[in-house]
Amino acid sequence: MLIQRDIKTSSREEIIDITSEVQKVIRESNIESGICLIYVPHTTCAITINENADPDVKRDILYWLNKHVPQNDNFRHAEGNSDAHIKTLMSGQSVELIIDASKPVLGTWQGIYFCEFDGPRKRRFLIKIISG
Ligand code: ZN
Repeated sequence: MLIQRDIKTSSREEIIDITSEVQKVIRESNIESGICLIYVPHTTCAITINENADPDVKRDILYWLNKHVPQNDNFRHAEGNSDAHIKTLMSGQSVELIIDASKPVLGTWQGIYFCEFDGPRKRRFLIKIISG
């Protein structure tokens, strides 16, 4: 089962919590046990798991990435978004989740995040669920 979800980002850099959407997709799949892969088919976006309790964590992650990978550096890439490509490299294209009792197994403070590094744009992410 392959599911696609569209997402519209609203700023150049943004970390969007997609946990509830992923939970809904898993619930509607009627798969009780298995693996869920979430993949982003863009070169300037990422998918990751991190803390979802304190919103300052998202702010601090973007702050740190921008401090160490500034948008304007001595890059050659003509698109002018080398920083976004590097941030994607550091953050990852996919996450895998264990499905148990028709829910993703997440720690108390974990959320699933779609990361935009070169928006705002229309984006998408893919969810593959494997029963087992
Ligand atoms: Zn580029």
